[in-house]
Amino acid sequence: MIIEKIWRAFIDYEKEKYLEDEDDKKIHVHDIIRCKYKYYLKKMFPEVTLPIIPSIFIGESVDDFVKELAKRIGNLESTEANIEIKVTIDGKEKVLVGRPDLLFEDCVVEIKYSRDLTDKPLEHHINQLKMYLFMTGKKQGYLVYITPQGLREFTIEEQFDANSFKEFIATWKSPRYDWECEYCEFRFICPYRIMPAENDNKKQS
Ligand code: SF4
Repeated sequence: MIIEKIWRAFIDYEKEKYLEDEDDKKIHVHDIIRCKYKYYLKKMFPEVTLPIIPSIFIGESVDDFVKELAKRIGNLESTEANIEIKVTIDGKEKVLVGRPDLLFEDCVVEIKYSRDLTDKPLEHHINQLKMYLFMTGKKQGYLVYITPQGLREFTIEEQFDANSFKEFIATWKSPRYDWECEYCEFRFICPYRIMPAENDNKKQS
């Protein structure tokens, strides 16, 4: 079947994009904005993080297509930027790696595929963009949500300074947001998980 071949190619693509970096000294921005323990579990069980889920396939397709379209827009610097900065995490020196979707001369743009149109950007997306702004030295950031109901953009003017950037990294925890556990592939083995149903049951008992 051709679908099997397409999916095989897609999983290989995802592995190269997200799992290629085995260097323990490197940590990616997309990990820092989420659960800390999940970062360690992903390293231990990399296969688990590549599920066959159509929305992920669609999201990656949208991401790559918009990057292609952006090449027709002026002032584009890169769709493949790999920015690195030294940071200290738990007393150890690490290299924080960021890969913003679109880097223009005067701004950074992150593309997000979503099933639903949103009235406001999600906090972890804002933090991701703020990190990219700090790491690139750009002043203007845009979050662009692409959904079946329409497209929406949000201008992000908040900036990290050196102190708040360090503090954001220092407050990396497990999970970073309570909602993460409900969607986490490691929730059945994780000692730190926070499940809404468990909380509700505890409240009732
Ligand atoms: S279940 Fe929650 S705390 Fe555990 S790894 Fe997943 S997101 Fe993190």
